[in-house]
Amino acid sequence: MLEAIASARTILTRLHEVMASRSVAQAKLNTVVEVIGEGLDSEVCSVYLLREGMLELFATRGLAQEAVHVTRMAVGEGLVGTIAATTDMLNLAEATAHPDFSYRPETGEDKFHSFAGVPIVRRERAVGVLCVQHVDPRRYEEVEIEALQTVAMVLSELIANAGLVDEEEAWGLTPAQTGPAHLRGLTLVKGLAIGTAVFHQPRVTIEHTVAEDTEAERQRVYLAFDKMREQIERMTAQAEFGVGGEHEEVLETYKMFAYDEGWSRRINEAIDSGLTAEAAIERVQQRTRMRMRQIDDPLLADRMHDLEDLANRLLRTVSGQLGTAASKGLKNDAILIARNLGPAELLEYDRRRLKGVILEEGSLTAHVVIVARAMGVPVLGRVRAMRGQVREGDQLLLDADQGTVTVRPAPPMVEAFETRFARSRERQAVYASLRDVEPRTKDGTRITVMMNAGLRDDMPMLSMTGADGIGLFRTEFQFLVSATLPARERQTRLYRDVLDTAGNKPVVFRTVDIGGDKALPYLRHNDGETEENPAMGWRALRVALEREGLLKVQARALLEAAAGRTLNVMFPMVSEPWEFDAAKAVFDKQLAWLKSQKKMLPEAIRYGAMLEVPALAEMLDVLAPKLSFLSIGTNDLTQFLFAADRANPKLAERYDWVSPSILRFIARVIRNLDGHDVDIAVCGEMGGRRLEALALIGLGIRRLSITPASIGPVKQLICQIDTQEITMAMQGWLASPPVDMRAALVGWAAERGIECD
Ligand code: PEP
Ligand code: MG
Repeated sequence: MLEAIASARTILTRLHEVMASRSVAQAKLNTVVEVIGEGLDSEVCSVYLLREGMLELFATRGLAQEAVHVTRMAVGEGLVGTIAATTDMLNLAEATAHPDFSYRPETGEDKFHSFAGVPIVRRERAVGVLCVQHVDPRRYEEVEIEALQTVAMVLSELIANAGLVDEEEAWGLTPAQTGPAHLRGLTLVKGLAIGTAVFHQPRVTIEHTVAEDTEAERQRVYLAFDKMREQIERMTAQAEFGVGGEHEEVLETYKMFAYDEGWSRRINEAIDSGLTAEAAIERVQQRTRMRMRQIDDPLLADRMHDLEDLANRLLRTVSGQLGTAASKGLKNDAILIARNLGPAELLEYDRRRLKGVILEEGSLTAHVVIVARAMGVPVLGRVRAMRGQVREGDQLLLDADQGTVTVRPAPPMVEAFETRFARSRERQAVYASLRDVEPRTKDGTRITVMMNAGLRDDMPMLSMTGADGIGLFRTEFQFLVSATLPARERQTRLYRDVLDTAGNKPVVFRTVDIGGDKALPYLRHNDGETEENPAMGWRALRVALEREGLLKVQARALLEAAAGRTLNVMFPMVSEPWEFDAAKAVFDKQLAWLKSQKKMLPEAIRYGAMLEVPALAEMLDVLAPKLSFLSIGTNDLTQFLFAADRANPKLAERYDWVSPSILRFIARVIRNLDGHDVDIAVCGEMGGRRLEALALIGLGIRRLSITPASIGPVKQLICQIDTQEITMAMQGWLASPPVDMRAALVGWAAERGIECD
């Protein structure tokens, strides 16, 4: 038999001929079992394929021919069914000793003792089983099993090309180990969704498994390795840049695998056995997967996950299938799965079909999450090892309220979920009914509740939610969705449309806040260098002041768009008062120019700053006289106060927005502005969460700008509270903070029957 292994290549060559021949599919299969049986010196060789949900004997050498198309078994039944269900091989010296053995007299298999079988896998699912049997009771050698697995790979191509299995049917397969699974994660954007799993970076479907020219295949893999290593080096140079979310540790592991001699050698050996570059990569990956499955070590499972990622990257490079799922377009209601995403990558998806997002990483204030929240798409983050559990096309029930996802649910689960979904819609309807209700506390204090926006598509939400205006329009979103820097005319058009839609309601335009995790590929450093800490680096106003042209163009666009109306301009990341002055000077200059040209000017211009950098809090006495408003950006403020990267998944749950340090800081900002005619608002994600909003109102905040989905719930909260009461409570807590501020607030709200998530 070992000799036969040496001729695995000969088997593949012969299989290749069979596949290329003009005979009908059944005749081809009959020849295939002969070729394999002969090549492996095996008395029996059989192929079972999935048809109408059952595994049917399609061809055999050695078993009774009368059993062909007669012997059928369910997935999970007998040895063959077990292999299909587990997508794992079986290697038995005595087949009858296995607990799953089921005797089929029509096959005449009683005289054979040993049995080895491997799954025939197509798109990660078993579509059939290839097995060999011997009279002698002995276990097969590892090399023999490997040869069988290589052959099974080639068979999957033949089967797919001949249309011998219904791939759609294979998708619907829910055998034992591919049955329902529950996974947990961290809620990033609340909401429920039903849809099918779509991988942002789809798995490559291998079309050709047998090589025409082995040397050419070696060359392809060699080049792909080169390219992949180059990519990894580039990513390492940009580590922490955030867009791909790849972090240093992961990149180090990537690097280790990318340069691993053993890995490339095994792929080359697989090519030597006659496989194409793609099939060889997959074959080696299958083998590693199988080995890893036998080792129960979470650390190794993590590494396996990285290797899977890398192998997929290599496959994508070698096959030239580099596009993401967005470039292919979503076909049905989809739940997108990715390790991490940049905001621009998310925006490439069709909003109508994108029902949810599951990230293996992710954190609450990462911009991709803010974008998703604005899109009204629920997001579950930090779900580990999705690739191992979910396959493309699997049905998913995403419950981002509870922080769970159910994979391949059984029908009763879907039913129960739909009931909850309907209830959640009812709740939404209650919030929607608050549209025209003024957000006033029980004691009559009017709280201004505005919404955050960034795209034209967000605008309908203004009237749908009944928000008081737009307290933060993130102008950089237009830059993120464009392939090049948006021209002034395009900017003007967007701003004008936004103002037109808003009508009498105010809109606060924030000048571009790019950099950080909102990197633009077309806007790089002058010196081409990458940054170690982009969130604290060349971003927002710092970019705008250095690239004055950028701010000049935006200033003109905003001033022209607001002709005859009030323009509210807000500068992000102001760290020192002079930066505000410098930015305002750019607007003043543009205003003077427009005046000289006798163009229509805005009726009024109100300038404001974001307070995101703690240093600014110390300078408010200097800045305040120049401001009409100040908006506290708690997303960045928190990351700088706690020195905790907002995009770092490891820190996602570490610090609490209702911690005394943040609340005291905000209270101090409010005190520092006492006596100045400056509107104070909070526009970070914090204000959109009810318990946090309650705390902010207790501090004296009367203006919130929040994500549209939070407007209803926050309005409902406002109507239930008494500002005097919460102010008193908050003063007490800030003077001597409880050990657990969150618990104190939750208890306080519960005592008064105030609903707070
Ligand atoms: C913030 O930092 O709180 C903020 C609102 O701005 P962004 O999230 O866009 O950085
Ligand atoms: Mg910010």
